Amino acid sequence: MNDNSLGIDSGGPPGAPPGGVGDGSAMSRWWQGPGRVVRAALDDLVTTFYPTDCRACGGPLLRAGLSPVCDSCVDGVVEQSMTLCVRCGEALDMEGVRFAGQFPVDGLVCSPCRMAPPEFERAVAYAVYQDELREMIHLLKYERMRSVAKPLGRFLARAIRMLEGEAGGDLLVVAVPLFPSKERERGYNQAVLLSDAALAELKRSRPEWKLTAAHGVIRRVKDTRSQFELTPKGRRRNLQGAFAVSDRAALPGREILLVDDIYTTGATARACAQVLRRAGAAKVWVATASRAQPEMIAAWDDSALRDAGSRVAAWDAG
Ligand SMILES: [Zn+2]
Ligand SMILES: [Zn+2]
Repeated sequence: MNDNSLGIDSGGPPGAPPGGVGDGSAMSRWWQGPGRVVRAALDDLVTTFYPTDCRACGGPLLRAGLSPVCDSCVDGVVEQSMTLCVRCGEALDMEGVRFAGQFPVDGLVCSPCRMAPPEFERAVAYAVYQDELREMIHLLKYERMRSVAKPLGRFLARAIRMLEGEAGGDLLVVAVPLFPSKERERGYNQAVLLSDAALAELKRSRPEWKLTAAHGVIRRVKDTRSQFELTPKGRRRNLQGAFAVSDRAALPGREILLVDDIYTTGATARACAQVLRRAGAAKVWVATASRAQPEMIAAWDDSALRDAGSRVAAWDAG
């Protein structure tokens, strides 16, 4: 499937394999034998020593380096500037702002958060999932370009900094887990790579903030890839029982920072937060590099109706 065939400029489904930027180099076609991890490393090497064009915009890569994406694409990713729900980070339209204004004490809270408050304190995201950022996330998740995790991790670090002064000074950082077979297939969990890059960056810029990676404390016990056919409510139901705690002793009384590459419907963040809180976590915070906003999700649903193929894995990011 060609991603461009969706006809959406603002972004396709977060889980759809990109067709536009094919992994068609002779080197990578030839090198099909070894495991994906080896091939991922080789792809990065090929990009390093045989720099081609920027994989996001097609412009020239002026600097030979590890990144397959040019500086201007990375710099083109800017912080969200809309009015956002203070709880989940959803962009509020005029009607949403008016609704939230009826309850001034709580600040601007969207109606879903008011009707069914999430078990996390707050979810923050750096930029809208579109354009260059969308391309970068696709490269990391479907084209095995591990090195894109570095700039994406910087975006995640900027999202985490939005919680400074609000979240505790001693946080356990947990990447949203993938189902084991999916992680094996991909060769890595992209959320862990982003987390590693973000924590390295924050160690330099915020040395006093104690952020400790604890990715193993929850695991995904249900393969939720099949949820593309479900309604939003069905997707939430499908995620029930999808996560389980692996290390109960680690959680009681602790503040957890849940991290991921993208926040889509919030179903994943809500499901993880519920499991973490039930195991005794005092508070759960959520930070992601990117955020899909409602009008884009509606567009994906429309395109999914037109093109059954595009529905495959469209909701894997939750
Ligand atoms: Zn570029
Ligand atoms: Zn909200």
